Amino acid sequence: MRELTHFINGEHVKGTSGRFADVYNPATGEVQARVPLASPAELDAAVAVAVEAQKIWAAVNPQRRARVLMNYVGLLNRDMDKLAEALSREHGKTFPDAKGDVVRGLEVVEYCIGAPQMLKGEFTDGAGPGIDIYSMRQPLGVTAGITPFNFPAMIPMWMYAPAIACGNAFILKPSERDPSVPLMLAELMQEAGAPKGLLQVVNGDKEAVDAILDNEVIQSVGFVGSTPIAEYIYGRGCTNGKRVQCFGGAKNHMIVMPDADMNQVVDALVGAGYGAAGERCMAISVAVPVGKETADRLIEKLTPRVESLKIGPYTAGDDVDFGPVVTAAAKQRILGLVDSGVQQGAKLVVDGRGFKMQGYEDGFFVGACLFDDVTPDMDIYQQEIFGPVLSTVRAETYEQALALAMDNQYGNGTAIFTRDGDTARDFANRVNVGMIGINVPIPVPLAYHTFGGWKKSAFGDLNQHGPDAFKFYTRTKTVTARWPSGTKEGADFSIPTMG
Ligand code: NAD
Repeated sequence: MRELTHFINGEHVKGTSGRFADVYNPATGEVQARVPLASPAELDAAVAVAVEAQKIWAAVNPQRRARVLMNYVGLLNRDMDKLAEALSREHGKTFPDAKGDVVRGLEVVEYCIGAPQMLKGEFTDGAGPGIDIYSMRQPLGVTAGITPFNFPAMIPMWMYAPAIACGNAFILKPSERDPSVPLMLAELMQEAGAPKGLLQVVNGDKEAVDAILDNEVIQSVGFVGSTPIAEYIYGRGCTNGKRVQCFGGAKNHMIVMPDADMNQVVDALVGAGYGAAGERCMAISVAVPVGKETADRLIEKLTPRVESLKIGPYTAGDDVDFGPVVTAAAKQRILGLVDSGVQQGAKLVVDGRGFKMQGYEDGFFVGACLFDDVTPDMDIYQQEIFGPVLSTVRAETYEQALALAMDNQYGNGTAIFTRDGDTARDFANRVNVGMIGINVPIPVPLAYHTFGGWKKSAFGDLNQHGPDAFKFYTRTKTVTARWPSGTKEGADFSIPTMG
């Protein structure tokens, strides 16, 4: 059995805790490797190394640091196919989708090459007699991130690229389901010219996560994953005095107005609902057609498209629409939720429960499922399914559709499809969700804007990437300086003012 490692102090290091997790190939159902689960002592060892690496790195000027990221972009492009293949093999997503995972991370690295501009600080000349005030952004020190299985390249890069650009060291605790790509990414950072120990990977589960949260040296924690764990990490991390940002689960609604272009709507729904087997935090999981006639037209057009989606292993070529889900447990959970939808009275228009992939009978494949007549009290509406299952909730009016998205506990993304600018504008202004698509089903902002949801989809004040990332990974220091020519004699006992 292939045994994976940690990446500590620039080396692949075997685990010493004696605990391991199986890493599957979701297409075949076989265990292809095992990953070590770190003990608190192993995490502490990585932190000690990070402290030293960060001192070296913080002394490197921002432009030279940016050059290392520039080299890194070159290496990511060089190894793109290798990374995407390893990603598909452990995650199960198609090869083009795996490349997209790497590219959306790489775009944030490219954005972070502009760090010198973002870190310039502020200066007020002559704020008082002979007095200047300036603010600077300084790195936090050792920072850490805990990431989910569904984007094993993109989400780690969203965290460590800005952290490193700002002069921090970073410890990554990736998902134990697909840890190979994060290990490869860390190795490439060193090849790009970063000091040993600047970007380390400590594999593990809750034990490693708790060790990160309780470690006194680690200054900040970024988390992306499910909402219950996001809440837990936010609470424990904040209590321990860390800067914390946590991004959680989602239930993204797509409102379909009667005037929408139905061909465009159907294309959008099959891509955003079933791409990556629905295992995206920005997947559309609820379609909300407005009016009976819209709903009937939608179901009529959508049904044959969902029935003909091509499912297969990533090795089957580029015309596969989606692959297996990540584990046997995820498959069972999804099938259980689909059963509950039927029992609770929703209409299962396309039933993928019996799907078997020929030649891959032990793989974790789930056929595409489409529900109509879903109501908000049902479990399939309340819970994030995270599988290839789209629920249709019929609304009579635009206000009802809007209220549905507003009342949902999650607020990651949402979309509206319409030809009417007034309605689209009203929706974007009023809906209490973080990322909005207007005739765009997966509105993931590009690197130079920020990414983040509202309500139970995010905890903390700042978003991921974009200008927020430079705020999250730095502390502001403000200096008020007076030089002798402006100094008057005598002590001041009242609060200084410039008036
Ligand atoms: P998860 O919450 O199970 O795991 C995420 C990370 O937390 C992993 O590294 C895991 O090892 C760790 N973890 C798991 N259980 C833990 C525990 N009890 N204590 C401490 N740490 C623990 O999530 P997942 O299944 O890997 O990913 C899917 C979820 O992530 C979905 O809910 C999805 O919506 C969400 N997600 C959100 C975003 C976003 O930006 N909002 C992006 C991607 C994924």
